[in-house]
Amino acid sequence: MIYLKTDEEVELLREANLLIGKVLAELAKLIQPGITTRQLDKVAEEFIRDHGAEPVFKNFPNPYGPPFPASICTSVNEQVVHGIPNDQPLNEGDIVSIDCGTRLNGFCGDSCYTFPVGEVSEETRNLLITTKEALYKGIEQAVVGHRIGDISHAVQQCCESKGYGVVREFVGHGVGREMHEDPQVPNYGKRGNGILLKNGMCIAIEPMITMGTKEIYMQEDKWGIITRDRKYAAHYEHSLCIRKGKADILSSFEEIKKVLGDKFI
Ligand code: MG
Ligand code: MG
Repeated sequence: MIYLKTDEEVELLREANLLIGKVLAELAKLIQPGITTRQLDKVAEEFIRDHGAEPVFKNFPNPYGPPFPASICTSVNEQVVHGIPNDQPLNEGDIVSIDCGTRLNGFCGDSCYTFPVGEVSEETRNLLITTKEALYKGIEQAVVGHRIGDISHAVQQCCESKGYGVVREFVGHGVGREMHEDPQVPNYGKRGNGILLKNGMCIAIEPMITMGTKEIYMQEDKWGIITRDRKYAAHYEHSLCIRKGKADILSSFEEIKKVLGDKFI
């Protein structure tokens, strides 16, 4: 069931999503060689709670094992998504995808950003550039009259044309009072296929893109997802609403940009 949102509901969703941009910007100030993802999680959780919101990921249920133990997912290098924060310091040349979900005034935000740690290789940088580009190519297709498949196709085309892998097992989704609502928004698909896009639809688009194979497997902790060939993966995510015919992006990378300055990709 797809819930179309009213203007008032969209503004509440925007608040929950803008908070994530601020959380990620706080973390951007700290991401450098030597810091651990557990330290980042602690800062994120405090920041979210200090702003009157709840971290949706904390204790998120898992059909395969224990609930998620942290407030952010921190997926490092070959981890694609759902990495559990730990005490391993980040190293120069690593990448870390930080996915964050908030609930504020009854509505959920969901957004993710992949950060380079110090200087990264040209190859890695290109993966980040293309994954983010794919996100915006998908967003361009999120207009009234198009279908979900138009978004999916645009993301897939952008990445596969450059030789990258597009993960199939995890997809974008509707967002609202619940972090995961209908419809699903795959990162692969055919133009003109799927559900028709309408004003009031709120969705999260989130390409999960790999440098090599698209094949993945689950780590022993039953959360972390890594690439089979252990090559790097990137993940960017915006939540948006289709309003007045086109995409109104509810989350924001602007605060991250202010922190990273010239290093913002
Ligand atoms: Mg997310
Ligand atoms: Mg999501």
